[in-house]
Amino acid sequence: MNKHTRMNGRDRRGPGLASSIEKHGVRGAAPEAGRRPPVEMNEIVEAGVIGLGHEGEGVGRYEGYTLFIPGALPGERVKARVSEVKKQFGRADLIQVLEESSDRVAPPCAIYEQCGGCQLQHLAYPAQLAWKRKMVVDALERIGKLRVGDGGGAIVHPAIGMNEPWRYRNKAQVPIGFDLGEGGLVGGFYALGSHDIADMDTCLIQHERNDETVAAVKRIARELGVEAYDEKSHTGWLRHVVAKYAFASGEVMVVLVVTESSCAVFEELIERICAEVPGVASICMNVNPERSRAVFGERTVTLWGKDSIVDSIGGIRFAISARSFYQVNPAQTEVLYRTALEYAALTGGETVIDAYCGIGTISLFLAGKARRVYGVEIVPDAVEDARANARLNGIANVEFAVGRAEAVIPAWREEGIDADVIVVDPPRKGCDAALLDTIVAMRPKRVVYVSCNPSTLARDLRVLEDGGFRTVEVQPVDMFPHTAHVEVIVRLERKDTAQ
Ligand code: SAH
Repeated sequence: MNKHTRMNGRDRRGPGLASSIEKHGVRGAAPEAGRRPPVEMNEIVEAGVIGLGHEGEGVGRYEGYTLFIPGALPGERVKARVSEVKKQFGRADLIQVLEESSDRVAPPCAIYEQCGGCQLQHLAYPAQLAWKRKMVVDALERIGKLRVGDGGGAIVHPAIGMNEPWRYRNKAQVPIGFDLGEGGLVGGFYALGSHDIADMDTCLIQHERNDETVAAVKRIARELGVEAYDEKSHTGWLRHVVAKYAFASGEVMVVLVVTESSCAVFEELIERICAEVPGVASICMNVNPERSRAVFGERTVTLWGKDSIVDSIGGIRFAISARSFYQVNPAQTEVLYRTALEYAALTGGETVIDAYCGIGTISLFLAGKARRVYGVEIVPDAVEDARANARLNGIANVEFAVGRAEAVIPAWREEGIDADVIVVDPPRKGCDAALLDTIVAMRPKRVVYVSCNPSTLARDLRVLEDGGFRTVEVQPVDMFPHTAHVEVIVRLERKDTAQ
């Protein structure tokens, strides 16, 4: 349910690149009909770079043919080796930058190239923000067929970035494995293009405390002779170390993802984590006996301390348990939720529906300014967390339901619940068509749409526009600096009430 899981190296070369052009097109991407691609496998070509693709890769042009070149930047001329040839487009590996963009910077991370978790460290931060805004504008115009700009079009604001766009993440999820050379337990990331685990000491987008927590757990595990999980033979014990840090309270949670619930050195392991990890408030174990690549298994138990740690955003406290979804960048989450509050324009008398509410963060953020808030979420544990979070804050005018938003909201409507404002924050695939139909039929005064995928956002905005809403303003918020992820929040008003 984490919609923003950290990408590993494989994703960089995954099908996303191909699908981005197939689905959304890159202007001028299609070569003349019937023409054969002008390149062959392994050929070394010189290409001009005209843009950035959905995953931050350079979009190169060679004799009218599109080549995706990771690491290349718009405005550059590069030398690259062709690594894949398809009819409409190909891929190439960057060999040399012949003419350099003035926005190119040296990536500060020593393992940037091998890891793949970040895609834009080689692009200056202001240019990253400009690119993220452009991704949104392009999607709205091309997929949503929306008019953007002054004179009645949707206003797309500059992306709100961070003053200090490093060390922002509150959660680290680190795969554990063996170093075949030295034979020891290692933990870090999947090396680009493989499922081999490379060791990592520090991640520059991760809060230092998470780096320290992971380093301590790895050191203790090594010293106690804990066996790392081996994916190939499906043997060993420790699969992942997850560290969570609540910025507001300083509390740390350690989650050990393991293959079975027993371990010869359990007691020492817990004792030493308690003694050597500063701020640790909770140690949990998640058991994943499966051969799958999914990180978590079904069963989670608390080994020591509390079941959850408590963070606070904008004065509202949230209990975060081992498995619940929680935004990974708390500083920018506050910016996002404040914008949601502003766009909802509540006066105290409104009924609000928060669809896809997770652990109730947006619902609780809005509750103080609304008459009543109804949240709906598909994961039962998240709804339990949402209810607990309401109690934690003494907020009584919220109600949460478990289920599919597209089924629960029509049922609420049958019961006579009429929303003045509907907030949606769906996963990457966007809103279900039935939910959009319901929103159109319910005719709320305003819709606030929070999205982590400009393409599905644009598709859904078109449906809402055709159903009587106007896209008034759009605010990109940079939740994931140095990665190609884009987060946006949109204010829609009903056309017959908007001034
Ligand atoms: N608004 C929350 C969570 C957003 S993530 C926050 O800001 O933290 C999107 C959420 O939608 C996830 O919690 C996911 O479990 C939930 N979800 C996915 N499909 C759903 C559906 N059809 N109906 C309701 N919730 C759904």
